[in-house]
Amino acid sequence: MLEQPRIGFVGLGNMGTPMAGRLAAAGYRVTGTDLSADNRRALIDAGGTAVASAAEVAGASDVLVLMLPSSDVVEAVLLREGAAAALPEGALVIDMSSSEPLRTRELAARLAERGTELIDAPVSGGVKGAVAGSLTIMAGGDAELVERARPVLEAMGKVVHTGPVASGHALKAFNNLLSATHLLVTSEAVLAGKEFGLEPAVMLATINGSSGRSGSTENKWPNFILPESYDSGFALQLMLKDMRIATGLASALGMPSRLGECAVELWGQAAEELPRTADHTEIARWLVSRTHIG
Ligand code: NAD
Repeated sequence: MLEQPRIGFVGLGNMGTPMAGRLAAAGYRVTGTDLSADNRRALIDAGGTAVASAAEVAGASDVLVLMLPSSDVVEAVLLREGAAAALPEGALVIDMSSSEPLRTRELAARLAERGTELIDAPVSGGVKGAVAGSLTIMAGGDAELVERARPVLEAMGKVVHTGPVASGHALKAFNNLLSATHLLVTSEAVLAGKEFGLEPAVMLATINGSSGRSGSTENKWPNFILPESYDSGFALQLMLKDMRIATGLASALGMPSRLGECAVELWGQAAEELPRTADHTEIARWLVSRTHIG
């Protein structure tokens, strides 16, 4: 690997654009693409170079970063759109999307057969963390590969080596199952408290000094739900995907996740009733719409 590897970036959405911007600001040469022309322009504004296809990106990359919606898209980009075949020898693929761990394991083995290494490095911290370069990055893979990726990853956040390949994707899915379940039950509690006559802001401030606190009480409710902006930049559909990855993995491992399954069912109903583009914080508004207090 060169001192300053050339970075390829595929998937310049809510997270990918600010993450690629951090890499460009850290002095890396970043070449990227996205299906959306607006997002390709955003990369240019952020200091990178935009090209038309993932294969073109891969051809100019020592490290290829993927920040895509799902395993389906990650596999399509690498295997069907020709990105894996276009990578130079010795290139490293970093899948920072929230993908399915069992598929990531298979994909890594498949790429290894053609001499390409892959690590998974999904993130937590939202759009705000991506903009600030303060993401928590859950890196799964051989220690030597994670060390090779570390300087690149550290331009975007704090790296935790979670274990072998796919361990980051597993941990990320479980994290989001917790996050979504907290958000749901927090919303139920705040809405019931409001009906009793409590002020939501007073409830949240008190809970934040008490044992019921979570990212939902400290961040999501005060910043996106109370102000009724519902604009965290993380889609409800993507949260539901992550929850299903976690409960599906638990089930495949023979581990019951009854509360998780219950949360998936409610989030699934919300996903069916809300527009496809709804932000995940809309779950609170959806709960209101199902009660008499709406
Ligand atoms: P997003 O939908 O905003 O971005 C995904 C981008 O991928 C889109 O711009 C889309 O055009 C592009 N894309 C899809 N197919 C493509 C293809 N074949 N070639 C090139 N580009 C393609 O999603 P996001 O919120 O940026 O999330 C990306 C990933 O990160 C997801 O796996 C998500 O679960 C995860 N994630 C999101 C957040 C968040 O707060 N938004 C936080 C942590 C993790």
